[in-house]
Amino acid sequence: MEERGMETNQEVMKGSWIRVGDDGGLLVPDDPVVGFIEGDGVGPDIWAATRLVLDAAVEKSFGGAKRIFWRELLAGEKAFEATGEWVPQETLEMLRRCVVAIKGPMTTPVGEGIRSLNVMLRQVLDLYACVRPVRYFKGVPSPVRYPEKVNMVIFRENTEDLYAGIEWASGSPEARRFASILKEEFGVEVSGESAFGVKPMSRRGTQRLVRSAIRYALSRNLSSVTFVHKGNIMKYTEGAFRKWGYELAAEEFPDATVTEAEVLEEHGGKVPFGRVVIKDRIADSMFQQALLRPEEYHVLATPNLNGDYLSDALAAQVGGLGMAPGANIGDSCAVFEATHGSAPKYAGLDRVNPGSLILSGVMMLEHLGWDEAGRMVTGAMEKTIADRVVTYDLARQMEGAREVKCSEFAQAVVERM
Ligand code: NAD
Repeated sequence: MEERGMETNQEVMKGSWIRVGDDGGLLVPDDPVVGFIEGDGVGPDIWAATRLVLDAAVEKSFGGAKRIFWRELLAGEKAFEATGEWVPQETLEMLRRCVVAIKGPMTTPVGEGIRSLNVMLRQVLDLYACVRPVRYFKGVPSPVRYPEKVNMVIFRENTEDLYAGIEWASGSPEARRFASILKEEFGVEVSGESAFGVKPMSRRGTQRLVRSAIRYALSRNLSSVTFVHKGNIMKYTEGAFRKWGYELAAEEFPDATVTEAEVLEEHGGKVPFGRVVIKDRIADSMFQQALLRPEEYHVLATPNLNGDYLSDALAAQVGGLGMAPGANIGDSCAVFEATHGSAPKYAGLDRVNPGSLILSGVMMLEHLGWDEAGRMVTGAMEKTIADRVVTYDLARQMEGAREVKCSEFAQAVVERM
């Protein structure tokens, strides 16, 4: 059914393309072409480890009936050396063509006029949902008493809010002009040399994020979706996020969801069977809840800035960013990635923890609908860490640990599948 034998760089490429179906779901062949960007710094080390683990899990789970055909896409320093561009046009086209890709961290070029390659990729490909699952792995040192109670997936809006990049420096002609418009047209007086940042948030931007969060909860039988906002203060942006979120749940998922208020007022405090509970929390209160009652939260949907803070705080709660996976997902493309940076001082030393990228690979397998393979990786990683076979970052905090290299950790995971 798929195209085969595509000519690329004088070689015949094997594998078939993934497609997006009319309902927005993926049509995944047994031999999908999946793009990978190796990344800079420690990228090549953690990518090699990740590829070994993912290939082994797919092979063992499906007895050879399924296989990923990896297609390298150039970006970052490797691309700049080869083509003079940080993210070549061909890479963007192939990311769209592949539909699914995984990437290592990329060093942000200094003084090149590009803010961040990652931000650029998210914007160009319209990857509007930043998805970060946060869970605990037994044995990992954590700063809290019951880290195992944390099991949440954060859906952070990726394209709007104060991160849209609309800001003017204090004293700039734009800031002065903006201040005069505020004064003359709106009668609002702002102190003379203020800097400004604009916080755009739209119904469409909010609702596509909330839609994907609710669909995710439904597809994985998770019991709640919580909107995290500062709507008590910023009524027309964060407050609207909350309002648009509830409206979307009621309009598009009336039989599959129930609000927290309805549970109390209409169902005597008991959630009707099979319904996802929709609730909301003010952001500051959510940080308390995450520490005090984490077991009551499953999927969190949040605007950009709240999500940024919350993702790192929750990751720290379960033992740090070195193990936190992530993905940036849009309607036509998804890119799975390590959440840490390129850690240049460890480049090529085969030393760092590949956990973040391996677990991003698990998210990717689940996105393909290959959950068995994902579970095999997670289970084997749980065993490896419980056996205290870990890289330096965890070894220095664990008693009786056996410190291994990045590649040896991957081997140890494969051995435990
Ligand atoms: P970093 O995450 O690269 O490294 C900070 C420190 O964290 C490292 O020195 C190391 O001690 C530790 N660390 C990071 N990853 C680890 C791992 N897998 N295992 C064990 N320890 C690990 O952050 P940075 O130094 O601020 O950034 C370096 C570069 O990466 C910058 O150019 C930055 O812009 C870029 N960056 C890229 C991404 C991305 O591609 N998604 C994310 C963040 C930063």
